[in-house]
Amino acid sequence: MADIAVLGAGVVGLSTALNIQKLLPNVKVRIIADQFYRETTSYGAGGIFLPTTEEIPGVPEKILRKWCRGSWEFYSSLALSAQAAETGHEVAHGYVPCKKRKEKILLPSDNYYNHSQHLLTMLVGQYDVVVNCTGFGSKRLFNDNKMTPVRGQLLRGYKLDHEWVGLRPSRTPVRLEKETLQLQNGNLKVVHNYGHGANGIALSWGTGLEAAKLVKEILYNSHVSKL
Ligand SMILES: Cc1cc2nc3c(=O)[nH]c(=O)nc-3n(C[C@H](O)[C@H](O)[C@H](O)COP(=O)(O)OP(=O)(O)OC[C@H]3O[C@@H](n4cnc5c(N)ncnc54)[C@H](O)[C@@H]3O)c2cc1C
Repeated sequence: MADIAVLGAGVVGLSTALNIQKLLPNVKVRIIADQFYRETTSYGAGGIFLPTTEEIPGVPEKILRKWCRGSWEFYSSLALSAQAAETGHEVAHGYVPCKKRKEKILLPSDNYYNHSQHLLTMLVGQYDVVVNCTGFGSKRLFNDNKMTPVRGQLLRGYKLDHEWVGLRPSRTPVRLEKETLQLQNGNLKVVHNYGHGANGIALSWGTGLEAAKLVKEILYNSHVSKL
């Protein structure tokens, strides 16, 4: 059985993990993060599906449309389904608010593991593919200086209730690609999926679908037989 690690337990990591498990039912997916649920940026998001090209710079329109379509089909089908009240999705004047009901979409509890120190070298030889959904964490973990915390526009009359409220993990462009890292103790095959800025909830399912396909490509090219 192939082993996949998803780094990050925000909306991007969870959506990506679920898509990998759906696409590749025979692989073992483990989610690794140093913060979960309320501590993530994703927990503080409004959850509105309203992606705009101006807020997602650097991504070709054709690709952006594909990500948006993937997300829209998923969220709108939930919003129009009998489970809408349970999942917290509803269509309101053309967008879908997604209330966070993480407990309804969790993978089994032994898929979660909390660790961050010396993370990348520890993963060499342990996982066939590592999927990076660490948002801001990518700045340090992968030395990505294109990552910036961007403060969004607050609605008039709203007050900050947490230090981090208003900060979106942004990158131009969003990074969704494969990379082989050469580390001291060996190579690590990585799929990156981060930097969604103000649209992480909206785009997470669509980019998660694409990241899962990249994982599948790597496993096929590596001749991992137990797919
Ligand atoms: C106030 C506010 C409102 C928003 N409203 C909307 C909205 O209406 N619609 C919308 O689409 N988007 C919205 N956003 C944007 C959205 O919240 C983000 O784009 C999204 O949450 C990013 O998700 P993520 O999974 O990439 O990052 P995060 O939620 O930050 O998750 C990152 C994960 O990576 C882990 N991690 C990081 N570094 C390491 C490390 N070194 N080791 C181990 N684990 C690590 C963290 O612990 C965490 O689990 C809003 C954002 C804010 C702040």
